[in-house]
Amino acid sequence: MNKIKKSMQLFEEAKLHMPGGVNSPVRAFKNIGGNPIFFKKAKGAYVFDADNNQYIDYIGSWGPMIMGHSNPNIIKAISKQLELGTSYGAPTSLESKTAELIKKCMPSIERIRMVNSGTEATMSAIRLARGYTGKNKIIKFDGCYHGHVDSLLVKAGSGVSTFGLPDSPGVPSQLAKQTISCEFNNEDAFLKSYEKVKNDLAAVIIEPIAGNMGFVPAKKSFLKLLKKKTKENNSILIFDEVMTGFRVSLGGAQEIYGIKPDITALGKVIGGGLPVGAFGGKKEIMDCLAPNGPVYQAGTLSGNPLAMAAGQELIKMLIKSNPYNLLEDKAKKLLSEMKEMFNRKNIPFSTNQIGGMFGFFFSNKLPKNFKDVVATNDEHFKSFLNACIKNGIYFAPSKFEAGFISSKHTNKEINNTIKVVNKILNEGI
Ligand SMILES: *Cc1c(COP(=O)(O)O)cnc(C)c1O
Repeated sequence: MNKIKKSMQLFEEAKLHMPGGVNSPVRAFKNIGGNPIFFKKAKGAYVFDADNNQYIDYIGSWGPMIMGHSNPNIIKAISKQLELGTSYGAPTSLESKTAELIKKCMPSIERIRMVNSGTEATMSAIRLARGYTGKNKIIKFDGCYHGHVDSLLVKAGSGVSTFGLPDSPGVPSQLAKQTISCEFNNEDAFLKSYEKVKNDLAAVIIEPIAGNMGFVPAKKSFLKLLKKKTKENNSILIFDEVMTGFRVSLGGAQEIYGIKPDITALGKVIGGGLPVGAFGGKKEIMDCLAPNGPVYQAGTLSGNPLAMAAGQELIKMLIKSNPYNLLEDKAKKLLSEMKEMFNRKNIPFSTNQIGGMFGFFFSNKLPKNFKDVVATNDEHFKSFLNACIKNGIYFAPSKFEAGFISSKHTNKEINNTIKVVNKILNEGI
């Protein structure tokens, strides 16, 4: 059993300095009622906490650690650039090279702009969509998270999609009214909202494989409908692949579904663990951005050389090794064994995975939308998660987050995880 005395002290101290003691809310562990673990080191498939406990890590910084923590190639790439300078506020060839690699993997991207986070990418993508179309309304889907952008912090009220209820104080209702949130994977709900707002519809934005309500892939027919309707209406289809880009396959979810969005938002993996985001798409649309066009967007640290060096090295490794089938096999093995153990104990449990991303739910049936995820069992999730953490397995501390596996998770780590789950279940959750 892990003792987390130091982490508890560090959390008390952090609360004196930062709201809730964290710089991003999910880290506070409120969802499972525990104390956040403070880390000091990570290597391969493992993270090490302030009390010197070791954990098998299934978060991987929410995606970027797809080739393992402290990967020697990435350390080398960053170190080399470090010696040459950390930021110039001027162009470098690193940016073009990274852009070229991304475009090669994602042919829907003809031009790309680097930014510093996923939030910045989606925020700029919808500004561009509005600027390009001259329209205002955005359709999004319940349970899809697109960063903390004002216009995107909107979802439906319980059950029925309602118009313009801001999800957060501080978002002006006038702005929230421009965003309509529909049920994910629900064609009728989408069509109904679409008909209402199509004359002023700038963009439809979706996580094609949602990783912010657990792990819920869209139906192919659903994405096809979004593509068809946005196309015939001259609205922009934005795929938010901040999480899935280079995570579920080299070409992201759009490659898996064979559907090309007009604009793609990226982040996480493409920074190799450094702060990066990007958005890209059709040349004609991207050329509306300043300095070519009137839509303003800028960033002092955008295309930062350290981040470009790290991201580029990671993308090169991914192109070379194409690890996605292997990652999926490993995730499948882990999840199928877990499912069997839960079934033996008569605990409802369902699982899903694509490439290096996965999800498990305390429900008999796999959720198809946010409502289904909300309905999964909270008590089972909380006690299972807390037991895992005590036993050195670090899964995401919220049922609304996906899981991630890396190429450094070998049979040894998978088997050890299975053993721990078995022990936890025998002790009773
Ligand atoms: C993480 C994430 C974002 C936000 O990215 P940040 O870098 O945290 O701002 C946006 N969209 C999706 C799908 C994400 O998973």
